[in-house]
Amino acid sequence: MSFRPDYEVVIGLEVHVQLRTRTKLFSTAAVSYGDEPNHHTTPVCLALPGALPVLNGQAVELAVRAGIATNCEVHPRSIFARKNYFYPDLPKGYQISQFEEPLATGGWLDVEFEDEKGELTTKRVGITRIHMEEDAGKSLHDGSAVDSHIDLNRAGVPLIEIVSEPDMRSPAEAGAYLRKLRAILRTVEASDADMEKGQFRCDANVSLRRHGDTQLGTRTETKNVNSFRFVEAAIEAEVERQARCLDEGEEIRQATLGYDADADRLFVMRMKENADDYRYFPDPDLIPLVIEEARIEQIRAGLPELPDRRRARLADEHGLTAAEAAKLVASAALADFFESAVAAGAPARAAAHWLTREVAACLNERDLEIEATALVPDAFASLLELVETGRLTARSARELLPELLEGGGDPAALVSERGLEAVSDEGALEVLADEVLASNPKAIASYRDGDKKSLNFLMGQVMKKTQGKADPARVRQILAGKLDGS
Ligand code: ADP
Ligand code: MG
Repeated sequence: MSFRPDYEVVIGLEVHVQLRTRTKLFSTAAVSYGDEPNHHTTPVCLALPGALPVLNGQAVELAVRAGIATNCEVHPRSIFARKNYFYPDLPKGYQISQFEEPLATGGWLDVEFEDEKGELTTKRVGITRIHMEEDAGKSLHDGSAVDSHIDLNRAGVPLIEIVSEPDMRSPAEAGAYLRKLRAILRTVEASDADMEKGQFRCDANVSLRRHGDTQLGTRTETKNVNSFRFVEAAIEAEVERQARCLDEGEEIRQATLGYDADADRLFVMRMKENADDYRYFPDPDLIPLVIEEARIEQIRAGLPELPDRRRARLADEHGLTAAEAAKLVASAALADFFESAVAAGAPARAAAHWLTREVAACLNERDLEIEATALVPDAFASLLELVETGRLTARSARELLPELLEGGGDPAALVSERGLEAVSDEGALEVLADEVLASNPKAIASYRDGDKKSLNFLMGQVMKKTQGKADPARVRQILAGKLDGS
């Protein structure tokens, strides 16, 4: 990475994903978010004596989908284990997870990201394992300084943990991996993966080593960072911190860190404990999870088109560049929008161009997904048609975009209402060009002296007179014709 060229950055990610089920992993309590505390609990969630867990079949199905979609080998037999630790939000005193025999292992994702030169690069990131586990409850520390409260609505909610190999080499790669992973999980409907609701939570393991070293350096793990932007920022901050330590000849100490997004700073939560401390052992209340091969194959056959395949198809069917197709498919919603707009008559390449640039920029600024805006594919197709037929300049279309995203509406109607129609009347443009030339003799002189930039200045003057509503290429032609011709 360029900001620390003397070290190689090594990143491995652990992602906890909430499966999209109606009820919890081992009880009939509803999975809900933001409800009154402790309204979705059963004796199993509360760990009342004698209550026994019963595995949720839908959760298994969704976990298998996730395993297949990430190219893992899904094992016909896996084992639930008890991971023992004490915490007030864990009434049983152990979390049911999988340890020695997880559901799935040995997968990978091909991840696209822009390298330092801005070129699209593909990198394969290994997935070590995916295991099923239950979530813990929540401790609420808000309000008074003395009391804490426990909400067990989340206790027992089904999760999968997806553990990557330490294959990523920069914050950008880590961000791209997470985006790809989320797109896949959403596509196969294993999870809504809404980060704000804690349905997709990432722990980032980071270490540094000298280029050429074969052994990994000591790592730290930054817990539960809740947005892609913050994951990248947290990794960057941690790389910087470790590099400073190594520069000073200090050793990196294994630790669990938290990230304070407001201050863009890391803080130590605890020095790292070993996995052994958890005293994992197979849960005697649960028999091995056995899934017949035939069932796994049936689930495989029922999966929808995955992002990689879709990207290749879109590029192929519509003549898009690999980068455009990758950007569209990075969000299933954006790719859906693209296909609907094309079905509504939008020219495909223009649609891809606009969606991956202007529209994507507007969405990024507002931190929105396309489906959360008021823009619909039909209106987008009409907007592009106005541009293609020359009734609207690209510049005016760009100006109209935020309004369409926020308020919706018919682009053609908005264009007439606002008087945004392009000035395409050749006669009118000629007159404006003559006016500009007449009042700018100096610019003409320097143009003729070889300063071709003067033409840009003159163009700017004409564009100003049309309030930006003329086709710049046409204005340039007209001016150049007059300057070079006479
Ligand atoms: P634990 O479960 O104790 O956190 P694991 O060995 O299962 O430990 O690793 C968890 C994650 O840390 C994995 O994603 C792995 O790729 C990553 N990881 C392991 N060693 C390193 C390292 N030296 N640098 C960066 N990431 C690492
Ligand atoms: Mg870990």
